[in-house]
Order: sequence, then C-alpha cells, then structure tokens
Amino acid sequence: MQKEDCLFCKIVKGEIPSKKVYEDEDVLAFKDIEPAAPVHLLIIPKQHFDSLETMGKTEEALLGKMLLLAPKLAKEAGATNGFRVVINTGHDGGQVVKHLHVHVLGGPRPWKKL
Ligand code: 5GP
Ligand code: ZN
Repeated sequence: MQKEDCLFCKIVKGEIPSKKVYEDEDVLAFKDIEPAAPVHLLIIPKQHFDSLETMGKTEEALLGKMLLLAPKLAKEAGATNGFRVVINTGHDGGQVVKHLHVHVLGGPRPWKKL
C-alpha cells in the first residue's frame, strides 16, 4: 500500500506535515511546499503508485476521481479564472517525487515556470 522511503507516503501517513485541502478514503490533496503559482495544489492517491506510467485499467476510476477533483479544489482555493493540471511523469517528464501526483496551478498570472 505505502512505500517506506517515499515522501508522499509519509505525508499520507502523517509522518510529514502538510497543508491538507481535501481527503477521502482514496485521495489526499495538499498545498505544494514551493508554489509555482498563487494556487498550487497536489492531488495524490493514498496508495503508492510510482507514476502515471504504472497505472492500469484497475486505476481508471481513481484517476478519474483525481482529475474531477481538480476543478473543484482549484475553485475552492481561489483559482476562479482557470487552472492548469500537470502530471510530470518519469525522468524526462521532470518528475522529482516518485509517487503519482497531479499538480493543480491557478490564480492570477504571471506564474513561475514549472
Ligand atoms: P514533481 O517535480 O515531482 O512533479 O513535483 C513534486 C512537487 O512536490 C514539487 O512541486 C515540490 O515543490 C513538492 N514537494 C516536495 N516536497 C514536498 C513536501 O515535503 N511537502 C509538500 N507539500 N510539497 C512538496
Ligand atoms: Zn508513495
């Protein structure tokens, strides 16, 4: 379920604090520690998956849930004029934390480069 040495698994377990904005049995959403935009949230599955590349048909509903949360959480966080969803995947995708996460970025521009 969780991976010992994974930063986001530690956040799920509460071993590392985070500013949570949403939680249910499958998913956790919290503020990015180094925001690249006025609104910068991360939506993660509670179960450990390395990246989007390791997701399969079984995870279709989970992925759908995460994506559908993006507009809701973006709006609640104050991004009322649009937002961007980013899923960095693998080395060349610029993925640093190897636990699947959806970036939700919004708020008035300009933003930092992601
Ligand atoms: P990646 O580059 O893997 O797509 O994104 C990882 C994101 O996780 C980065 O935007 C980074 O700021 C964020 N991050 C890294 N460590 C922590 C942490 O301990 N807490 C929170 N809230 N965000 C983190
Ligand atoms: Zn993990």
